[in-house]
Amino acid sequence: MQNNTKESRLQIASYALGPAMTNTYLIAEPIHPRAVVIDPAWNGDFILREAANRGWEIEQIWLTHGHFDHFGGAAQIANDSLSRIEVALHSADLPLWEAHGGASLFGFPAFDPGPKPTIFLEDGMQLNLGNFTFEVLHTPGHSLGHVVFLLEQERLVFSGDLIFMQSVGRTDLPGGSWETLLQSIKENILSLPDDYRLLPGHGSETTVGQERRSNPFLK
Ligand SMILES: [Zn+2]
Ligand SMILES: [Zn+2]
Repeated sequence: MQNNTKESRLQIASYALGPAMTNTYLIAEPIHPRAVVIDPAWNGDFILREAANRGWEIEQIWLTHGHFDHFGGAAQIANDSLSRIEVALHSADLPLWEAHGGASLFGFPAFDPGPKPTIFLEDGMQLNLGNFTFEVLHTPGHSLGHVVFLLEQERLVFSGDLIFMQSVGRTDLPGGSWETLLQSIKENILSLPDDYRLLPGHGSETTVGQERRSNPFLK
C-alpha cells in the first residue's frame, strides 16, 4: 500500500532563476534533511540559503543537461556548502559542460562551472534520495546528453528542456536534433499515463495528458 500522507511525500521547492528564468528544483525527503538540487540555474547563495532555511542539507546536484543556464549556481553551492557536493551529468554532455555550457553562444562570459561531474548518468540508472528512487531516462534532442528524472512513486518527471507547457526544447543549438527530440518525447513522455506531472526547465508545471492533448508541437 502506498502511503500518500503529506509527511511521506517528496518535498519540492522551485525557483525561476538567472538570465533564462531557468527552473531550479530543490528536493528533499521529508524525514531526514538530505536534499538534491536539480539544475541550480543561478544564484547559488540564494539556493543554499533556501535549503538552510528548510533545514535541508544539499548532497548532490543533478543536471538535466549541460547548458550554462542550468548550472550557473553550482560553483557557489559547492564552494559555500559545508559538505562535499557531487554533480551528476550524462557523459554525452560533458564536452558541453566543459565549454561552460555554451555560455559564449549567448554572449555570456566564461564562468566557474563548479565541481566536475563525478556521477555519470545513463539511461535506466537509478538515483536515490532517501526512500525515493528516481529513474534516469536519456532523452537526447535538445542536447546529446539530455536526461529527465522520473519518480514513479509520485508520478512526476523533472523534464528539463525536453518538453514544456505548450512547447518543446529548441533543437538549433550544437547537438540538437528535431527528429531525435520528437522521438525522445514520444518514447519517454507520451508513453506515460496522463496524470503524470511534468516539472520542466522553464515555465509552468504541466501534465502528460495536457501536453498530449494540446501541445502544438506534438500534433
Ligand atoms: Zn538547454
Ligand atoms: Zn534551459
